[in-house]
Amino acid sequence: MIARYKRREFIKATCLTGLGLIGSNLLAVNDPKQNNKEAGNNIIIDKVHTKLEDGNIHSTPYLRMDSGTDGPSLLLIAAQHGNEVQGVEVARRFKEFCAGNLVAGNVWIIPMADLRAVRSRKYTVESTPEKRFTETNLNRSWPGDGSGHDNQRIANSLNREIVRHCTHVVDIHCWEHYRAAETLSESNNEQAAVMAGVTTTRFISYGVFPENQNTNITIRRYMSATGRAAVTIELAGQYQMREDQVLIGLSSMINIAKQLGMIAGEPEILKDERAVRTKETSYEITAPCPGIFMPANRSDSNETLSPDDYVVKGQQLGHIIGEENLKAVPVFAPVSGYLWHLGLCHWNLCDTMLSAQHPYADKGDTLAVVIKT
Ligand SMILES: [Zn+2]
Repeated sequence: MIARYKRREFIKATCLTGLGLIGSNLLAVNDPKQNNKEAGNNIIIDKVHTKLEDGNIHSTPYLRMDSGTDGPSLLLIAAQHGNEVQGVEVARRFKEFCAGNLVAGNVWIIPMADLRAVRSRKYTVESTPEKRFTETNLNRSWPGDGSGHDNQRIANSLNREIVRHCTHVVDIHCWEHYRAAETLSESNNEQAAVMAGVTTTRFISYGVFPENQNTNITIRRYMSATGRAAVTIELAGQYQMREDQVLIGLSSMINIAKQLGMIAGEPEILKDERAVRTKETSYEITAPCPGIFMPANRSDSNETLSPDDYVVKGQQLGHIIGEENLKAVPVFAPVSGYLWHLGLCHWNLCDTMLSAQHPYADKGDTLAVVIKT
């Protein structure tokens, strides 16, 4: 709640509430027959073309904005997975913000990177409700291969036309709704850590990339392997658009652009402590018996707790209605901290198949994870 309130204040302070008023001409998509590189306000809207395995041409739309002054080349890439769509709206608002505020460098935006998967309304074109992850994952296809599978071909042409020009990348994904938004960074990439340090997700984690694989990797790892900087932002919730998540994405993008000197002003970072997710700070709460899990209400309202909420040690997080004796068995927060995960997500597919979000827990199933702060 605190974090959300502050994000709203941040948006107010940066006058973003009136975004719809900025440059309505910017919303007009260029007629493809025209030379769209002549677009006004230094915004180019164009497409990257890729020849697919079947010989058809696939076109990925993007836009680029140039301040006219030297500086970083920042890429926002979203929807590399077709069911992770909240970054598309972040991209739209960031574009409008930059149109009036970019003072150095240039911004590239690919809002729907795997447009084929977006059109098919799935994680990848080949995904099914029971099998989300497939070999043809765009974000395991970098830096691409012009004669590989379709997403390797698309990565190859996006790299040739866009990514190779970029010094910094923000890759926006969405994970399942039972988790809170998180920034994924690296402990061995200083430039990336600088970007990650100003994002506005409550949660952050730092990984280390192994060095022995340089093909069919994520865009973040590809940037790192080529001496550049990238962070991933996982917003919360697939197959949906949520204002609170879009604001996290937008305020993070603006902060990064400020941090890189591309927009005037200082980043507005979260006032309260950030929850750094590590093995040591993660406290898992599991089902004490089989039954139906009901989350508890927030202490200050009749709404149920949700990911991102702060809880104190001993606070009730919910209860299991046991199938043996139909009694409610409460579960409590073992430490004070922020809820990173709340609720059931069977087989990691709770935003893909309905039975995966069923609130029936087997004994030992994870009900919640609190990150100690
Ligand atoms: Zn993803």
